[in-house]
Amino acid sequence: MVRYVYAFTEGGRDMAGLLGGKGANLAEMTRLGLPVPPGFTVTTEACRSFLTTGSEPAGLAREISDRLTLLEQVAGRRLGQPDDPLLLSVRSGARFSMPGMMETILDVGLNEDSVLGLAKSSGNERFAWDSYRRLVQMFGSTVMGVDSALFESTMARLKQARGAVDDLGLDAADLAGLVEAYKELIHRETGESFPQSPAEQLQRAVLAVFRSWNVERARVYRRREHIPDGLGTAVNVQTMVFGNLGPTATSRGGGSGVAFTRDPATGRSGLYGDYLPNAQGEDVVAGIRNTVPLDELGRLDPDAFTRLRGHMATLEAHYRDLCDIEFTIERGTLWMLQTRVGKRTAEAAFTIAAELADEGLITSDEGLARVGGDELARLMFPRFDTSAVGEALAHGIPASPGAAVGAAVFDSAEAVRRAGAGERVVLVREETTPDDLPGMVAAQAVLTGRGGKTSHAAVVARGMGKVCVCGAEEIAVDPRGRRFAVGDTVVEEGTVISVDGSEGTVYWGAAPLIDSTVMRYFETGERPAGLVDAVARAMGHADGVRRLGVRANADTPEDAARARRFGAEGIGLCRTEHMFLGDRRQLVEAMILARTDTEREGALGALLPLQRQDFAGILEAMDGLPVTVRLLDPPLHEFLPDRTELAVRIAAAEAHGNPPSTHDAELLEAVNRMHEENPMLGLRGVRLGLVVPGLVAMQVRAIAEAVVERKRAGGDPRAEIMVPLIDTAEELRLVREEVEQVLAAVSKESGVPVTCPVGTMIELPRAALTAGRIAEEAQFFSFGTNDLTQTTWGFSRDDVEAAFFSAYLDKGIFKVSPFETIDRDGVGRLVEIAVAEGRAARPGLKIGVCGEHGGDPESVPFFHAAGLDYVSCSPFRVPVARLEAGRAAL
Ligand code: ADP
Ligand code: MG
Ligand code: MG
Repeated sequence: MVRYVYAFTEGGRDMAGLLGGKGANLAEMTRLGLPVPPGFTVTTEACRSFLTTGSEPAGLAREISDRLTLLEQVAGRRLGQPDDPLLLSVRSGARFSMPGMMETILDVGLNEDSVLGLAKSSGNERFAWDSYRRLVQMFGSTVMGVDSALFESTMARLKQARGAVDDLGLDAADLAGLVEAYKELIHRETGESFPQSPAEQLQRAVLAVFRSWNVERARVYRRREHIPDGLGTAVNVQTMVFGNLGPTATSRGGGSGVAFTRDPATGRSGLYGDYLPNAQGEDVVAGIRNTVPLDELGRLDPDAFTRLRGHMATLEAHYRDLCDIEFTIERGTLWMLQTRVGKRTAEAAFTIAAELADEGLITSDEGLARVGGDELARLMFPRFDTSAVGEALAHGIPASPGAAVGAAVFDSAEAVRRAGAGERVVLVREETTPDDLPGMVAAQAVLTGRGGKTSHAAVVARGMGKVCVCGAEEIAVDPRGRRFAVGDTVVEEGTVISVDGSEGTVYWGAAPLIDSTVMRYFETGERPAGLVDAVARAMGHADGVRRLGVRANADTPEDAARARRFGAEGIGLCRTEHMFLGDRRQLVEAMILARTDTEREGALGALLPLQRQDFAGILEAMDGLPVTVRLLDPPLHEFLPDRTELAVRIAAAEAHGNPPSTHDAELLEAVNRMHEENPMLGLRGVRLGLVVPGLVAMQVRAIAEAVVERKRAGGDPRAEIMVPLIDTAEELRLVREEVEQVLAAVSKESGVPVTCPVGTMIELPRAALTAGRIAEEAQFFSFGTNDLTQTTWGFSRDDVEAAFFSAYLDKGIFKVSPFETIDRDGVGRLVEIAVAEGRAARPGLKIGVCGEHGGDPESVPFFHAAGLDYVSCSPFRVPVARLEAGRAAL
């Protein structure tokens, strides 16, 4: 027999899947002996069944009514009993917290008769009518589908007529009149009357909460938070307690509040929260009146406050984490209405983990498990001095972290124009499209009124490392009028605003920036107490437990040095492309245009000493640690002028009667000859080395001579040579022979023995699938997961992100871009095959990853599990990778 209903006395926190988070924690608090109004939970399973079949599961009604009978016996009153009614709340509560997204209906059981009974039994007529009007309003909108704005405007009109500033200015007669008006409104809108039967109210409220799983805002929230759509919500049916009986600390009064066991913004220990005297709980968050700080409760009702503190200490000790709670005080009696392990900022996460470990409540391992790479990354950006900025102008979704200041602009062209003139701008759009790309590139930050973390704006901004706040629904964007409005505040084009992409907030004016103390710690080792010390401790523990090594992708001595300060244990990818740019471009052109071997050798010979210098600098910065140098990878035409520009230049010259220079003509010929439709799949990587004579030899000689130079200077250079874009073992064998000849030659000439391991990137599916053969030739592997993702999916990274990824994300085809987080099922499978077959052929084969995924918090655990030796990522991601590698090893 499936069972759909559990009393609070039967559940527990390990039952969140079935009872939802709220139900499981209500049961847990009940078990701990905390004062929880009695009740029961209808399971998520019942909800799933209702949502798939469209009707109430068989037996549910019976189970509910049996449970209700027990509840009534305990209370000594019946639901809606006319002289002294038992009233209920019907509360949503899913497996994962979705605050405020679904529905809750309070005061179920009131009707024309029981409202009078409640007035009499409580001795408080105003309270009874206030509760009744709340029920009619919530039931009318949630269950019967009447637009809630209609209730609000009805209430607003009445307040205005009475000259009342808030709901406390309405008396019992006003509220009774309001109930009448609400009931008429419901009848007018639905053709149906507000149901008087308490049993019917309860039954319909339960089903309405089930249905609220699928309301639009809940769906949007789930997509944003990656919560599966199939889970469903539980429903908690609970005895009502009342905070709206009168002012706190009068023996008949009370209030409601929310509280945290520590400050969820900073993590500092000590109670923290808001309290609203003479109110029901939903008023606290709804912001209908101003709350007072929790400390104030200590003055208003010291007894209740002491009990509250005791219960919160109990909860924190029990959950061994920051807890947040909702509570209500009725006639001096404190009731606990909800608790959960609380959400927190990045700063608070690190601080709390360190403090709880200090207090002996959790182990260092547990502390490490509770902080993440994303949080660490957020702490490494400069941020606004929130103590100096005042109220936020608007709130949205923190889509791409960082803090930026600029003048608001409303279209891409204006962004480009102003940025071109040296102005900092923030591009403000209702939502962005691929047409906005130039403006996004030009802007410091992007702000949109619509869309979630996977909207076009968010995806593109993150890809570019731009600050982005999206889905700021309070702002009304008017692109034609070149302004946006938040309520009555209008922000005209050119007004300076500040955008905090880490917190999702927007401020008027230029908010003062503060540097990141965490970044300073990584740069200098400066370790003040508090947050920085907490981060340092997490890092230390991660380093102690991790098995994965962490290297950096760095191409210059400066980057190498920074990476080293950030804890990199070598370079996993040293790209050499930039060594062929700038004033060296001419030498590359000369090499490409060479008609004879001698001409080509001349050009290569001129490049050699320059490249040698570059390598010597990097090897010095990474002295004693491995430096994996990738041989030249991009197609050569990337070093030539743009085809169209060149053609236009020549045509313009000809129009003026000037024949093109021989150099230009030769260039154009070469550019045309080398043009490729799909350069990503064209003449690049190892293919270049195999068709351009001398190219590999020159690069290897530069590396080898740099090694000699460093050794002579007393250094410990550890260069490794990595061949890109291998498809078959044969390619690698040929290149490796050439490499070894050059190494032998340089050793002989210099008298300094030079050996460099020669390995390959695994970045094509064929290479992954034939990794066993390739390992016979390769002394190490490094997964190039960017190209491997492109070629496995058949996605061109340069084209797809702007073209259709946001649509794919919206349709849920994938939850996150495979370029951001490794696709375990496809690309990951290739990685696993290559690791297994590579190591089978060459036991102990060293294997790393050097794509963007190496610094992605979601991907690092996969690389750990796949048995890689190290991940390599950009220098700034090195701390993130260290932390995640530690967490993966727990
Ligand atoms: P949410 O998940 O949106 O926070 P809740 O189910 O917690 O919704 O309900 C909203 C508010 O209703 C709560 O903050 C609480 O104060 C109030 N509430 C819920 N159940 C009761 C109850 N049994 N007695 C008094 N107030 C209640
Ligand atoms: Mg709640
Ligand atoms: Mg590649």
